[in-house]
Amino acid sequence: MSAIGENLKINGERLWDSLMEMAKIGPGVAGGNNRQTVTDEDSEGRHLFESWCKAAGCTMGLDQMGNMFARREGADPDALPVYVGSHLDTQPTGGKYDGVLGVLGGLEILRTLNDLDIRTKHPIVVTNFTNEEGTRYAPAMLSSGVFAGLHTQDWAYDRVDADGKKFGDELKRIGWRGDEETGARKMHAFFELHIEQGPILEAEGKEIGVVTHGQGLSWTQITVHGKDSHTGSTPMPMRKNAGLAMARILAKVEDIALSHAPHAVGAAGHIDVYPNSRNVIPGKAVFTVDFRSPELAVIEDMEARLRVEGQAIADQMGMEIEFEKVGGFDPVTFDENCVAAVRNAAERLGYSHMNLISGAGHDACWINRVAPTAMVMCPCVDGLSHNEAEEISPEWAAAGTDVLLHAVVETAEIVA
Ligand SMILES: [Zn+2]
Repeated sequence: MSAIGENLKINGERLWDSLMEMAKIGPGVAGGNNRQTVTDEDSEGRHLFESWCKAAGCTMGLDQMGNMFARREGADPDALPVYVGSHLDTQPTGGKYDGVLGVLGGLEILRTLNDLDIRTKHPIVVTNFTNEEGTRYAPAMLSSGVFAGLHTQDWAYDRVDADGKKFGDELKRIGWRGDEETGARKMHAFFELHIEQGPILEAEGKEIGVVTHGQGLSWTQITVHGKDSHTGSTPMPMRKNAGLAMARILAKVEDIALSHAPHAVGAAGHIDVYPNSRNVIPGKAVFTVDFRSPELAVIEDMEARLRVEGQAIADQMGMEIEFEKVGGFDPVTFDENCVAAVRNAAERLGYSHMNLISGAGHDACWINRVAPTAMVMCPCVDGLSHNEAEEISPEWAAAGTDVLLHAVVETAEIVA
């Protein structure tokens, strides 16, 4: 394998032009995008992507979940391909870069290799995963989840949107339900470029995030049973205030997360008190504690302590309490060699970089279960994402794609 020069770079202007072209499809109401999964706009975006891939000489594949695969042949056609990709679907009030950068950055890599007439031993495949966002059809990362064996395809097809339309039917209606068995493809490696969707890289002044882990998540729903009573005429010692018990438990949630600083986080984003009336002491509180950490042992410790501390608070206040685990997934540790390829690429190119833990879920988190995987992140302004005002600079986009190019080429091996 010949050496990769530090002057090997993508065409940043062409990448940016493609991002802006794609953003014209399914425009939002405030400068961003509304190109939700398996809509007519999604189909239009797919056609544009496919036309670009064909113009770059790729052969196209489509599986039964609508995942698209654009393949650039390798010198050894029997070698397992190196995959790159992300998603072209957006939130209803989404940005122009979330997911799209990873797909069009992958395409830009192929265009660059074509320009420079560089051949690789392994084929390179650019992927567009269907329904990453999970807005119209929960859950998020639906099709990469089927690909990696987390969900069955029949279950995925039966997901319904707010209008009662099934995912499988809508995928067929827009013309992107393929024949290929989902998950049958084997990958030599998978790389995903994505905007950070958080504020760390920009605050630290770094151009590249080398993603080492994805955070795991645990949701525990807690129900505290107190007693509804009048806020004015119930003497303080006689109250069974479920809202107060919840507040005390939430203070413990903060302590528990902080005890595992800096990477663990905890909060309750969902809170209901009953009857939720200004002059009634809450007789019941139902809330969901969300704990996240890149380490499974930390998540398990936080869950266990929540139950002990919560029970103690309820006992002390003379109330009943119930705990129910209602969701979660294990933390992700990305492949050592793929992560090293990303870090080496940033070094070779002279881009400032730091290790990052992904706080959000990504297709790469599921693909990591079936192939050696890593992620590259680039900054986004103020960490803002899932918002039409999401913004990145052309320089950040180019730097992230340069790193993706080098990591992919190192893994796919240049043929002299
Ligand atoms: Zn995304």
